[in-house]
Amino acid sequence: MKLLQQELSSKILAGSLQLYGDHMAGEYQGFYLMMEPGNGQYIITVAAHLPEAENNDSVKEFLRDLQREKEQITGYQTEKYMVKLSVQIEKKEKDIPAVVNSAVEPLMAYLSVNHYISGCRSCGKPVTLANRHKVSDGYCFLCSECASARVPEADLQGSGQNTFFTEISQEKSSAAPGFVGALFGSLVGGVLWALFFKLGIIAGLAGAVAAICAAWGYKKLGKCMDRKGMVITLLVTAFTIYLANRIAWSWEIYELMQENGFGFMDIFAELDDFLAFSGSWQYYRTLLVGYVLTVLCMFRTKRR
Ligand SMILES: [Zn+2]
Repeated sequence: MKLLQQELSSKILAGSLQLYGDHMAGEYQGFYLMMEPGNGQYIITVAAHLPEAENNDSVKEFLRDLQREKEQITGYQTEKYMVKLSVQIEKKEKDIPAVVNSAVEPLMAYLSVNHYISGCRSCGKPVTLANRHKVSDGYCFLCSECASARVPEADLQGSGQNTFFTEISQEKSSAAPGFVGALFGSLVGGVLWALFFKLGIIAGLAGAVAAICAAWGYKKLGKCMDRKGMVITLLVTAFTIYLANRIAWSWEIYELMQENGFGFMDIFAELDDFLAFSGSWQYYRTLLVGYVLTVLCMFRTKRR
């Protein structure tokens, strides 16, 4: 199943489409376009219009001829700033990319040769890949002004009505690079923890920072945040906080005991014995506050 996802995105339009859960989107020859499955066909939406034209009628003729020529094209539709094309989904998975390409590539070439440009569906202003929006009739590109002017209907990620992509390929994070990212991210929080501790500020606050940075690091290197990412981020953060707290306390005791000939590593390794003097419950309270703040912060981030 994973193979299909990779094959699709790597073989369609020279690999310029990225998978976003239930749809694919990308830029090809300067045009923003996307592809989503629905009713046994792929709906390909291209943001395209002629800069000075009143409407998109001129591309209609081309589409009509194209449909006559390619039987896999099941329909087309144009708007002032948008062109839509539907292509039947081949039963054999390996045939899909070639069929889609042979339908879409001529259109892209036509748009390119005739100096069409890409823009917002309702005003034509320039857009980016981030301007994807799901509306009642599928995904489209809307500039931020037009997008905020309309009533939101659903998330960008989609509500899962078009489950085809979702079934074959939920966007998954890469655990190993994500882990490294989380580790580096949480280290920022760990250093801050030791610093806060030294300054007498509630060190637990740094736990929240560690969690945020770790989640950021995971997302950055692991591509996205999913359930697996949440677990890895939490574990890495918990470990880093534990380590930072232990170092901070060891250092505190080290500064007191240094004169008695104790090395930092001796204290670090046998901290529990040393804590017996200074009250170990304070040590664990610091840790606990840190963990509680971390978990609170993780759930807040998750809900967003
Ligand atoms: Zn607009």
